[in-house]
Amino acid sequence: MPDKCLLIVLDGLGDRSHEVLDWQTPLQAAYTPHLDRLAQNGANGLYHAGSLGEALPSETAHFAMFGYDREDFPGRGPLEALGAGVDLARNEVAILAHFAALEERDGCLALVRDVPRADEEEVAELIRAVCMWEQDGIHIRYVPVKGVFGVLVLSGEVSSDITDTGPMRHGRFLPDVLPLVSNHSRRAGADGTDGTGGTGSEEVRARNTACMLRAYLLHAWRTLREHPVNVRRETAGLPPITGLVTQRAGRLRPIQPFSRRFGLRGLSIASGAVFRGLTRYLGMAWQAPRDTGNLEADFGQDLASVWELFHRYVLIHLHTKAPDEAAHAKDPLLKKTVIEALDRALGTLEQRVHDDPDLLVVVTSDHSTPSSGNMVHSGEPVPLLMHGAGVRRDLVRHFDEIHAAQGCLGSVRGTELIRLILNYLDMARLEGVRDTPEDCLFWPGDYQPLRIDDPDTDVFQGP
Ligand SMILES: [Zn+2]
Repeated sequence: MPDKCLLIVLDGLGDRSHEVLDWQTPLQAAYTPHLDRLAQNGANGLYHAGSLGEALPSETAHFAMFGYDREDFPGRGPLEALGAGVDLARNEVAILAHFAALEERDGCLALVRDVPRADEEEVAELIRAVCMWEQDGIHIRYVPVKGVFGVLVLSGEVSSDITDTGPMRHGRFLPDVLPLVSNHSRRAGADGTDGTGGTGSEEVRARNTACMLRAYLLHAWRTLREHPVNVRRETAGLPPITGLVTQRAGRLRPIQPFSRRFGLRGLSIASGAVFRGLTRYLGMAWQAPRDTGNLEADFGQDLASVWELFHRYVLIHLHTKAPDEAAHAKDPLLKKTVIEALDRALGTLEQRVHDDPDLLVVVTSDHSTPSSGNMVHSGEPVPLLMHGAGVRRDLVRHFDEIHAAQGCLGSVRGTELIRLILNYLDMARLEGVRDTPEDCLFWPGDYQPLRIDDPDTDVFQGP
């Protein structure tokens, strides 16, 4: 039976049918003989990390794929902060933030350019101008992550239950920062506490946080529009970088580490601060993938590096962002080309699978990314294949969104993916068995043996 798992995630792989591809999806239209052969010798199905129709971002989808419930998700802001090496205190709030070109219109701020190009020196100067701010006991600092992207870390009596200010589309007004209505009321009332160990209600904190963040963003706008960097940019005909927009506030909360929950030593090979942060949060190891600009060679070499790493890890998550990025370019043909390059890179996998009967291979994606239309991600399920000793073999002959629907795995959702992996590793716990005080999903758990020389056993005198 398999004793290790390679989980290959082709980010944003799922798609819609496009006229330019004869009404096929990019994956359907792509020539993928290696993925097809794996599908032929394994079990297939459709996977959605949440509910059908739900458009999930990568981090939320991966949180479910790694076996965690949505209600425990800390928010993308704290994950990016962790990925950037920031040690967040439990009462601090982290919010995604990036520089943008804003203009005043009808007494409001409107988005002119969401992610303006700027050189490193310009960005560094702008960061210095707005990186620290404090008012009424709330302290805000900007932590750079990459280019014009960063994270705002808020400390004091703060709450993460506030709205975003990033309008995401050019020409739209920035939404005001407001306290959320549902979350803080629900959490504050659930157990009679405010959930943070501090004083005061979450509602008050959310109102104050929204008020202070609004004041800070207006301070950033006033400071940046006068800034010498922007005077120089306007002279050069470039859009001035006049503000910050924010998204997805969150706060860390205690969580059961991945290895204690599933009994698997996990490694993620995935690019970007958010994956680095997510794996750090879950206690998994993380490694950067190769990035020389040659997708096929890079992915092939990352795959080749995995076999040695299985001496130290039981589950390796090998991830590529390439299909998602191609879809964001809104070019179905480009996405098809990218998928074909990835399939070629996976060419050595068949021999490995043949030579190693103890290997479980899972290939899937975190969400669909449509390469046409306005949506960032979309809510269709993605194909899922599982291949290894003992895994049922169905009648599916091609790895794509349409053929996968005829597979024997059926429709797999959310945390069921990691449970299926545990199942095929012969580690799934029989429901009801309790060999550890802490709830975990694998068997046998890291249990404490009953010792015959335990002093606690001797002191018991009977009733
Ligand atoms: Zn994704």
